[in-house]
Amino acid sequence: MSTANKAALFQKLPSTDELLRQPDMQALILREGHSAVAESIRAVLARLRQQIGQQIGQELADGQLDEKSLDLALGGLSAAVERQLRQSLSYSLQSVVNATGVILHTNLGRAPLAAAAFDHIRATASGYSNLEFDLSKGERGKRDVHVDRLFRKLLDDMLPSCARLDSRGRLSLRGSEQAISTAISTIVVNNNAAAVLLALNSLAEGGEVIVSRGELVEIGGSFRIPDVMSKSNATLREVGTTNRTRVADYERAINERTRLLLRVHRSNFEITGFTEQPGLDELVALARRRNLPLMEDLGSGALFDLRSVGINGEPGVGDSLRTGVDIVTYSGDKLLGGPQAGLISGRADLVARMRSNSLFRALRVDKLTYAALEATLLAYVKRDHDAVPVLRMMRLSNDEITRRAEKIVSTVESAEAKSARLKLELIDGESVVGGGAAPSAVLPTRLIALTHADLSADELSARLRANIPPIIARVEEGRVLLDLRTVFPEQDGVLVEMLSSL
Ligand SMILES: *Cc1c(COP(=O)(O)O)cnc(C)c1O
Repeated sequence: MSTANKAALFQKLPSTDELLRQPDMQALILREGHSAVAESIRAVLARLRQQIGQQIGQELADGQLDEKSLDLALGGLSAAVERQLRQSLSYSLQSVVNATGVILHTNLGRAPLAAAAFDHIRATASGYSNLEFDLSKGERGKRDVHVDRLFRKLLDDMLPSCARLDSRGRLSLRGSEQAISTAISTIVVNNNAAAVLLALNSLAEGGEVIVSRGELVEIGGSFRIPDVMSKSNATLREVGTTNRTRVADYERAINERTRLLLRVHRSNFEITGFTEQPGLDELVALARRRNLPLMEDLGSGALFDLRSVGINGEPGVGDSLRTGVDIVTYSGDKLLGGPQAGLISGRADLVARMRSNSLFRALRVDKLTYAALEATLLAYVKRDHDAVPVLRMMRLSNDEITRRAEKIVSTVESAEAKSARLKLELIDGESVVGGGAAPSAVLPTRLIALTHADLSADELSARLRANIPPIIARVEEGRVLLDLRTVFPEQDGVLVEMLSSL
């Protein structure tokens, strides 16, 4: 198209003012206000201008927005403005159907909350609450009491009976001679990155922290142990090599500036082959011998025995504390299945130092988080594991998933509107725990595999994303894969409807 033609197209576009004067726009203004309508008009016109402009570069490759299609677009201008207005006034953050089979999907909001959690949020946060008010004394209280009591209960239950609280409320985690003076306590901050920052700053500011080179990890979203270390004003003392670190490496690095031994869980990768890593018990023994605290950044921190769902080798919070780790840090919205939060559990004297650090004030969480966390923890205390969605998803049997998948496929195949070009198959596959939890933890599942005669897998997956609500699927080897493990059963109908209409 020539430049002259292009100019002619531009001239056909009305001005914002002209449009604002039209009767249908006036009606819209009465409903939605002048400035919102004017803004939508400007957005629609800008898009048209851009499409005309692009046309030059692409040499009409797509055959759109020539004179005829521009006329068509201009005819539908009011409708476009209304659509734009509706979109700009609707939520950007919206619920989606997670059919990826990745239970803790960082991009999809990690852990969905238990129903009890949002009931509790609604009940306590829509009005006033005793967040920091001691109802029995009628005076100021502490916000951490609400969940600390539940963590105590849960973590105490996980410790062997010989290490339980004695009658004076004292706890020994490491045998009688090294009795720890008080019970385990837990504080809550904004996320696990904040938990690590606070713990390092409180326990090691101005001193050295010893970490294995094999554990200098980066977790998605640029959480890097060396960076957090320097922000906490502690000096990183690396020992060993990427693939092999021995307890003697830690021992040799200890000096008068050492404040802490740190173990970081390799949440999102594995080192295999010629490797060596000291056992946690060896590190505990060393820390004890040299009178240094040992901290473990667990990342995921399960409060639930993952072995019961066939996931081995993923340490839980109880495992670490039982072995004698002094402080563990973990996320609220990974394997725990609660709200975004960073949890620090361990020796009460060390936790008390973190609580009195002014950083704690800056990193603390709000009442919504406490409400969601308290409800989630209460489900654990009641052993109602199916109330926590991520636990329910992990516990879902392959049979149950297969049954639902078969039902969806047969319903779609018998739907009148269903395109003959769409093919559905059931195949075996694997769900992923994800979210920087267990790097290699997978659960067997049954997948619905989709192919379409006229659409590539990427196009098909884009169609699913454009659905309301959007359906997020995996694309593998030219197929779109739907894993019902992460789809709530009440959402199966959404899949049926969408697939029947393809
Ligand atoms: C996920 C993870 C973090 C970061 O936790 P957030 O809650 O996302 O801040 C830190 N360390 C490890 C080992 C992790 O797996």
